[in-house]
Amino acid sequence: MFAVCTEPDWDDTEAIGRSGELPPLSTSTMRYEYASARCNGGEFVSVSFPGSASCTQWNLSVQRNTAPAWVAFADCMRRHGYFFLESGGGTYNCRTIAGSSEWSLHAFGLALDLNPSKNPVGSTNTDQPEAMRSDIKAIVAGNRHVFVWGGDWSGNDKDTMHWQIGATKADFAGGVVDPNLTAEELAESMEREPEIWADNTARLWGAGVEH
Ligand SMILES: [Zn+2]
Repeated sequence: MFAVCTEPDWDDTEAIGRSGELPPLSTSTMRYEYASARCNGGEFVSVSFPGSASCTQWNLSVQRNTAPAWVAFADCMRRHGYFFLESGGGTYNCRTIAGSSEWSLHAFGLALDLNPSKNPVGSTNTDQPEAMRSDIKAIVAGNRHVFVWGGDWSGNDKDTMHWQIGATKADFAGGVVDPNLTAEELAESMEREPEIWADNTARLWGAGVEH
């Protein structure tokens, strides 16, 4: 199967207003919602992300409920030809935010860093195609847009390598929808992830399917 990603014909604000979809939630809400996952490997499963050179597949740990959205995220990377180029970055890391005593969402398996050398913190520089970022932001769980991009934060918080989850477990119980994929295409992607496939078959839908 091969799917061509196209940029959605709306900006995020328009979509939220027009369709009743909700924006992602804050970092502090995520810390509360996923408190039991903090530095707790028992809540994590592995999702495969595309790499280049010596590592063509990176198996990274994410919080279990959010795994279908990361599968859709990784699928979007593949469709746009975007790969991990280096060993830096990744998902799970039991740590606080640099220069802060607040827990990073990496400690909960709720965040991913893409190619730090190309997407340095505090800079507007990024090697991520705009169309890929739009497609990632279009992924929905239940009625809510899932992903927050650190490149949309301002000033010293700007962090273009960083993506994090902004949807609750209740949102994920409503199923993950990638409007750029059919149900069959998303199911095929899930089949690459045997660890989570069985748990999540009932919680995945593609575009054009009633839900
Ligand atoms: Zn990060």
